[in-house]
Amino acid sequence: MRILLTNDDGIHAPGLWALHAALAPGHDVTVVAPDRERTGVGHGITLHQPLRAASLAVNAAQGYAVNGTPADCVKLAVLEILDGRPDLVVSGINPGANVGVNINYSGTVAAAREAALGGIPAIAASIDGHAPRDFAPAARFVRRLADRVAAHGLRPGTFLNVNFPDVPWEEVLGVRVSRQGVSVFKEYVEKRMDPRNRPYYWQGADMQRFREDDPGIDGAALRGRYVSVTPIRCDMTDYDGLDRLHGWGLELNGHEGEA
Ligand code: MN
Repeated sequence: MRILLTNDDGIHAPGLWALHAALAPGHDVTVVAPDRERTGVGHGITLHQPLRAASLAVNAAQGYAVNGTPADCVKLAVLEILDGRPDLVVSGINPGANVGVNINYSGTVAAAREAALGGIPAIAASIDGHAPRDFAPAARFVRRLADRVAAHGLRPGTFLNVNFPDVPWEEVLGVRVSRQGVSVFKEYVEKRMDPRNRPYYWQGADMQRFREDDPGIDGAALRGRYVSVTPIRCDMTDYDGLDRLHGWGLELNGHEGEA
């Protein structure tokens, strides 16, 4: 397979190179990743400044470091750097789970979503905890998952979001196909004072707790020491909402132009 590998933690991040080590044997892997940490940039793209891709050697391999976001990396790789479209885009492995509402903020997930928007199968991979013990077993699972994606295919516009519990691999209980959780995490903003006695604010993102009890959701799978695999769709339409909205009487009833 021709695989594009990216992340939101920057081209030097160990999670990316763990994936490279697992995927490179037998696959044609190209690394195109941000030139610095881009965690939390979501699906942002760079429109008002030029993008540059610097070819550099990392860990005895070659990669492209891009001064843009994860979504920029996928666009640039597919449109310019790669010789044609890849068969698969893999993003990660991110330190820190990307489950529940975090999926909306994650640059790791956005890279996979960007691929799926273009009809390319994609996997986003993350490990719970910000100092994961070992990326290698998770990376090997991603390789297996990539083989399954190749065998079964994904619907256009759908990608896989996989999250690993931060426990030794032998303590992982299994794999759960799960739904995205939607509960709002416990968030906080810490107010501090600068040396000139002016307040500044720091958003808390590390103290989040999964509060959902439904075992079918991604965060609960992680908490239960399962690998969580969730199919995510780019189409965000609320299809039940369509019917309800039809009942709102929004039609102009012959008064077109008088809205
Ligand atoms: Mn990250």
